[in-house]
Amino acid sequence: MTVKSLAQAIASCTACGLCRTRVNTVPGEGPPDAAIMLIGEAPGSDEDRSGMPFVGRAGRILDAALHEAGIDRSRVFITNVVKCRPPENRRPARQEIDACMPFLRAQIEAVAPERICLLGNVPAQAVLGRQGVTSLHGQVFDGRFLITFHPAAVLRNRKLMGTFVSDLRVLKKE
Ligand code: SF4
Repeated sequence: MTVKSLAQAIASCTACGLCRTRVNTVPGEGPPDAAIMLIGEAPGSDEDRSGMPFVGRAGRILDAALHEAGIDRSRVFITNVVKCRPPENRRPARQEIDACMPFLRAQIEAVAPERICLLGNVPAQAVLGRQGVTSLHGQVFDGRFLITFHPAAVLRNRKLMGTFVSDLRVLKKE
C-alpha cells in the first residue's frame, strides 16, 4: 500500500476504541520516500484537532531540536505508534497498540526509510521490543533504529534538550 492509501484506510479505521473519541485521525506527514522516519507515541489534543503530527508544544520542541541537529523537518516522515488520540493523553493501551501496529509496519514498508528514530519508550517497545530510553538513547539498533527521548519528556525537563539534539545528530551521521 502507498502512504496515501494507508492514510485513507486509517481515516475510516474502527479497529480499536480510540475511534470513538477522536476528532481526526493523525496518520503522519512527510515525503513518501523520506530517508528518515520519526515515530512518536500518540496524537495529543492539538494533533487530534488538526490531523497533523507534532504540532503542539512538544512539536515545537521537536522542531527546535531538528533545526539544531541540522535536519530539515520537511524532509522527514513523522508519525506515531497509534493514529488516534488516547483520551486525556493517557498512554495507549496494549490492545490499542496491537490494533494499530499493522498501519505503522505498512508505513515503514512503504516509505522504506534508511533511519528510523523511536521517540520514547512506547515506540521503542512497540517496534523493537525494548524499554529503557534513559540507558538506550543515542544507540543504533539493527543498523537502522535510533532510540531517543520523546519531545514531551524534553518539554518537562529542559535539561534533556542537549542530549536530545545530539541523539538526533546520529540520524545524520549514520
Ligand atoms: Fe484504528 Fe489505530 Fe485509530 Fe485504533 S488508533 S481506531 S487501530 S487508526
